[in-house]
Amino acid sequence: MDLRVTLLEEQALKPIPDVATLEFGKQTTDHMVRIEYTTGQGWSDAQIVPYGPVDLDPSALVLHYNQQIFEGLKAFRQPDGSVSLFRPDRYANRFRRSARRMAMPELEPETFIQVVKALVQTDERWVPSEPGTSLYIRPTVIATEPGLGVRASETYLFYVIACPVGAYYKEGARPTRITVEEDSARAAAGGAGEAKTSGNYAPTLLATQQAVEDGFSQVLWLDAKEHRYVEEVGTSNIFFRFGEELVTPPLGGTILPGVTRDSVLELAERWDLKMTERRVSIHEVMDACTSGLLKEAFATGTAAVVSPIGELSYKSECVTVDSGEPGDLSCRFYDEITDVQYGRKDDVMGWMVPVGE
Ligand SMILES: *Cc1c(COP(=O)(O)O)cnc(C)c1O
Repeated sequence: MDLRVTLLEEQALKPIPDVATLEFGKQTTDHMVRIEYTTGQGWSDAQIVPYGPVDLDPSALVLHYNQQIFEGLKAFRQPDGSVSLFRPDRYANRFRRSARRMAMPELEPETFIQVVKALVQTDERWVPSEPGTSLYIRPTVIATEPGLGVRASETYLFYVIACPVGAYYKEGARPTRITVEEDSARAAAGGAGEAKTSGNYAPTLLATQQAVEDGFSQVLWLDAKEHRYVEEVGTSNIFFRFGEELVTPPLGGTILPGVTRDSVLELAERWDLKMTERRVSIHEVMDACTSGLLKEAFATGTAAVVSPIGELSYKSECVTVDSGEPGDLSCRFYDEITDVQYGRKDDVMGWMVPVGE
């Protein structure tokens, strides 16, 4: 797709913030990608423009009925100074599936990757090089048509913004305290839980706020029907190690198919680990924790990669996962994935894509 580029004047470029001051998503780069969509005409007018507000009619459909999708992926500075993306094809394909679920126009994965690369190249000076830092990229589509009728919009805006992010763990991975949510649910069967769409997040905020007030860092979500089977933790996928068996809940419509989840599954296969995708009840987890069978629990997602879980609270019971310290496998997955992302190790899985190619 042809991309028209309008750059900021040299003197209008923002100063690059010190990585120590970065707050997730608060400091955006100088430019953004915009592509318009109109039914009948398709995607058109692809541009890189200075970062700035998006004009919306107050009746725009996205503001009322949440017709929206997004992605979150990262670019990493390599030892030779170049910049590479982690598995952009996976994020692009998930973006397309999310669009389909939300009755929105699909963007070709090649176009997604092309414009993400172009933005990263344009704002390359924003890709930090300190250990553990990266450029977080947020492609988004919103329904822009004015009108309050409940139906799919005829017009859309695709945009991509980016922000430098600091090391998630400044002092190494601290295992998190997690509380199991007994009442509300993140996604029900038949809903849109497997799509990355804004409507899935606001309903989780109340329980998360309460959890934080109670001294936990995240909520563990159970299935919406029986409140029995483990689904996700916060906005991450979840893994357990029972003895030598590594387990993660199977994707089934209510769970977001994480790229990090998939990367852990691929590594588990390459390392010949006993890895199972199966339903796990919260009772199995709590019992295994008490009996000592539960050796590790960890969350996976683009932001933190692998985040060990140290404590679980369910009903009135609070248990420590094994010693409460990060487990061996959590560390092994974290090290392997981040070593590949930062080019410290050969990319034998073919996960990295240089932005310059
Ligand atoms: C994005 C997301 C994940 C993690 O997916 P990654 O591709 O690994 O970043 C998991 N759960 C939810 C609800 C998410 O939004």
